[in-house]
Amino acid sequence: MAFVNGRRGAEMAKRLTGADIVKEMGVTPLIQAGGPNTKHSGTRPREEALEALRAMSEVFVNLDEFLIAAGRQIAEMIGVEAATVTSGASGGLVVQAAAAIAKDDPIKIARLPDTAGMANELIIQKRHRFVYDHLYLVPGAKFVEVGTAERCTPEEVEAAITKRTAGVIDLKSSFRSEGTVPLPVLVEIAHRHGLPVLCDAASMLPPRANLTKFYNQGADLVSFSGGKAVRGPQSTGILLGRKEWVEYARLNNAPNATVARAQKVSKEEVAGLIASLKVFLAEDEEAETARYRKMMRLVQDQIAEIPGLLVKIEHDNDHYIPQCVIYFTKAWRGPDSGEIQKRLLGGKPRIYVSSLGSTGELTVDPLNIQDEEELAIVARRVRETLVESANG
Ligand SMILES: *Cc1c(COP(=O)(O)O)cnc(C)c1O
Repeated sequence: MAFVNGRRGAEMAKRLTGADIVKEMGVTPLIQAGGPNTKHSGTRPREEALEALRAMSEVFVNLDEFLIAAGRQIAEMIGVEAATVTSGASGGLVVQAAAAIAKDDPIKIARLPDTAGMANELIIQKRHRFVYDHLYLVPGAKFVEVGTAERCTPEEVEAAITKRTAGVIDLKSSFRSEGTVPLPVLVEIAHRHGLPVLCDAASMLPPRANLTKFYNQGADLVSFSGGKAVRGPQSTGILLGRKEWVEYARLNNAPNATVARAQKVSKEEVAGLIASLKVFLAEDEEAETARYRKMMRLVQDQIAEIPGLLVKIEHDNDHYIPQCVIYFTKAWRGPDSGEIQKRLLGGKPRIYVSSLGSTGELTVDPLNIQDEEELAIVARRVRETLVESANG
């Protein structure tokens, strides 16, 4: 006989579609042409991840054993000393800071976020301050800012180090590298003072080479999102690095009764992440890049002639895959990118494009566009919206 929460229940649920679920709630879905933005659902988990989620639900394990083994498998796949799983890259930042402050001291681990009497300062370059950086403060850390919003020197970093310093932060993100201290230099300074370098590289995949690049440049802990281009479950993150620092991070992380206990990741999600990572690593990056470029050319061709716009396909340090970037020149007579973005979201169908850039540009991202039909709709609606908006 089958219990309701056994396989029979699962088979019954199979007939359901995503459209059914949101319709019942009265929620209107959207076409996601803006890249892995969390508020617009991140990315679609790979089939292999969904399969692994279901399969992993069939077995029970001891979570400590499972997480240690999962970390070992991830580290071997990537080719680094050690790794573990966190709740998104954001959860990774929390345990990076906790690891830097409490290490493997059970009394300190249990006391966080109360850091009284502990070295709890994290040095951060002002240019590396960003919307998620307060996650580093969750375990009771304090920031010591160095440099200006434009630049920072190695000397400024070193001068800020005291006996209260717990670690040095490095952000790897679009539009943030210019003017900052190069990672290898940061590492040399930090290590000379016995301090770890904590790196947030959440969105820096692809290129896949980044999985080992920052680690090879000496960062002790590096966080990546599992829910961006890896296309694992939205809630997952990869934290990799030196063996002892990854172990400190694990001890400070859920499921242990620590400051990060609220960040638990289920065994199903961990299995889903590993399944996705396998596919991600096996993919042909050149072919993938060519495919994205071709998709974005189709969008570019539709809007290149609209007066006042400069439309380029960008793929560099600030654009992780080929994206179609719409720059608004002085000759543009219409509203700003925020308004255009709003009009696309308010249209039929609703389309999300991002406006992440540094100079008010709009960016069309191919990552979440699901098929040719959807691509054609995106290209057409972006053209129509820009043409309609061109004069106000
Ligand atoms: C996306 C991002 C994060 C958050 O990652 P999640 O996996 O969504 O938690 C953190 N830092 C940076 C720089 C990011 O781009």
